[in-house]
Amino acid sequence: MIELKNLSARYGRVGVLREVDLHVAPGEVVALLGANGAGKTTLLHSVAGVHRAVTGAVLLDGDDVTALDAARRTRRGISLVPAGRQVFAELTVEQNLQVGLHGTRLSAAEQSKRFEQVLSMFPVLRDFASRPAGLLSGGQQQMLAIARALVRQPAYLLLDEPSLGLAPQIVEQILGVLETLTESGVGVLLAEQNAGAALGVSQRGVIVENGVIVRADSSDGLLNDPEVSNHYLGVE
Ligand code: ATP
Repeated sequence: MIELKNLSARYGRVGVLREVDLHVAPGEVVALLGANGAGKTTLLHSVAGVHRAVTGAVLLDGDDVTALDAARRTRRGISLVPAGRQVFAELTVEQNLQVGLHGTRLSAAEQSKRFEQVLSMFPVLRDFASRPAGLLSGGQQQMLAIARALVRQPAYLLLDEPSLGLAPQIVEQILGVLETLTESGVGVLLAEQNAGAALGVSQRGVIVENGVIVRADSSDGLLNDPEVSNHYLGVE
């Protein structure tokens, strides 16, 4: 389980997250909702160890990992897929996946097995295995960014706005993969401005406003709350 305890984060003197308590258990998807600038990215980065200016604690399966840097947390099973699908445009799809395995020292057979597993989740990538990632569509690049994180077989996946700029059908396809992941016990923290899509695939959700968690409930509870739908789901 990932647990955030009384976590606060700042940039220089500016506080961005305040006293956040949150947990993600194995096999569940937790949606992290909030407007632009609410602090979702900072929260994910604080969990991943990318952002270090924090007080409070990040626990991983009961161990305090707050002092560990991002590389060490990745080795402990936390993988971040940053916003903006940061794939290596010049590298092929397969080379991007190899980058995901950097530092793991797996046998060639195990590598192929891992590639096979992620490509079966995103079959379209298989067809483009030797194509430079920069030539893929936005949706395919997002799939690749997620696949690159998944080849490490993380225990926890942190996704930052995977739906941004993508057509609803592609979003559905990408978020649909989370079900397969959670069935195998992966815990997912999904930061999204697209609350409807995120609550559709999550079991629980929290809403962040100005760095504070102002609401935490089951995803159904949030979806059926008129105040939440007015603010975050748009008027239908
Ligand atoms: P977005 O959807 O735009 O990424 P967010 O909810 O993820 O929004 P954050 O990116 O975590 O929000 O930003 C939270 C606050 O911290 C914002 O007010 C932002 O301007 C500020 N901020 C983010 N990065 C920095 C930085 N490197 N230096 C200073 N302030 C920052």
